[in-house]
Amino acid sequence: PRRPAPAPRLRPDDVFIAVKTTQKNHGPRLGLLLRTWISRARQQVGLAPDPRLALLPREDPAPDPSPRPPVPQAPILQVLHPRGPPTLRTSPSPWTPSPVPIPMTPSPRPPVPHPSGGHVINTNCSAVHTRQALCCKMSVEYDKFIESGRKWFCHVDDDNYVNPKGLLQLLATFSPSQDVYLGRPSLDHPIEAAERVQGGGTVTTVKFWFATGGAGFCLSRGLALKMSPWASLGSFMSTAERVRLPDDCTVGYIVEGLLGARLLPSSLFHSHLENLQRLPPDAVLQQVTLSYGGPDNPHNVVNVMGGFSLQQDPTRFKSVHCLLYPDTDWCPVHKQS
Ligand code: UDP
Ligand code: MN
Repeated sequence: PRRPAPAPRLRPDDVFIAVKTTQKNHGPRLGLLLRTWISRARQQVGLAPDPRLALLPREDPAPDPSPRPPVPQAPILQVLHPRGPPTLRTSPSPWTPSPVPIPMTPSPRPPVPHPSGGHVINTNCSAVHTRQALCCKMSVEYDKFIESGRKWFCHVDDDNYVNPKGLLQLLATFSPSQDVYLGRPSLDHPIEAAERVQGGGTVTTVKFWFATGGAGFCLSRGLALKMSPWASLGSFMSTAERVRLPDDCTVGYIVEGLLGARLLPSSLFHSHLENLQRLPPDAVLQQVTLSYGGPDNPHNVVNVMGGFSLQQDPTRFKSVHCLLYPDTDWCPVHKQS
């Protein structure tokens, strides 16, 4: 076990957080996130336009069968022996948020104003819940991160609470130039997938660990750049097709299966696939991400005391947020002794 290299102090705007969302969740889920952790991630950096990006990929309302042009795929030999540096723009151009959404492709669509302050990226991905549509979003998140020049990429779902301070603390223990892939393993064993090799129709088996997307995961810039032959500019989708697996599995496939790097398991990331009630109440505020069961499993929420009842705060996100940031204007005022 190697000690993490000492890293220079990490600033909030060194981290790129992509929040995957979809049109139908904007009302029920995003409002809560914008009032809680996303608002704090913005305020941390003062009045300047939020350099800590909350990327909210949203799709075209109308399903689009061929969202992005396919990128010619590398032959399998190159896959097994990646050569040379990625051909991506790597100049550290600080990402300046624009006041309007940034279209992914030259698009005549008018900008859609959004309460997040213009950080909505119109992905032009289909609004259906298919592997292709979800991989399309991940592909856009990846490209936007590379373009941002930031040190860390983190992906979360729109039912995740991100503890901004906790996330920064965790990432600060690593160097962004090392290969770092951090998250909660989805399974207690590596997934085994059939890998379709281009051309011949040969199928081989590949085993790898992956971080469950619903708990959030992070990638260092160093590792993300190495992933570019299989992840950038739409190639993420053809890579996903090779193993026919969802977006989060495909990230694991690229990192472990193709690059030979390793997932670093972290128990600080949480999805609603686990029993969230089992988290000790005094540990909740130290976690990096949280989630909630939702309408199908309303009891699967973190156990945390606070000024809000279960009815007032069914997800417990408001209670968590007020414990982390008691100075928030809508938090119940705590009387002194
Ligand atoms: N999602 C999406 N498109 C869809 C359905 C869901 O992008 O058509 C996103 C959703 O916003 C969330 C993630 O996928 O960030 C997971 O969705 P959800 O929590 O509804 O399902 P889960 O897989 O966690 O049960
Ligand atoms: Mn979910």
